[in-house]
Amino acid sequence: MKIIKAGKVPEKVRRFECLQCGCIFDADEGEYKCEEFYGYYVQCPCCGEMTGRVLKSESELHEPW
Ligand SMILES: [Zn+2]
Repeated sequence: MKIIKAGKVPEKVRRFECLQCGCIFDADEGEYKCEEFYGYYVQCPCCGEMTGRVLKSESELHEPW
């Protein structure tokens, strides 16, 4: 997936930042996983690494990339 223009994020969609390559992307409920120990994680659509950082704050969401 590739984001052209970031939109308003519905509740079930979470925005992730890949710790490996820096890609920022939205994943919906069926795409990310949540485990007790690891928290949220998802496969990066850019580099394919499993990544786990969820962006939470408004400033993070609006960081240029
Ligand atoms: Zn990546």
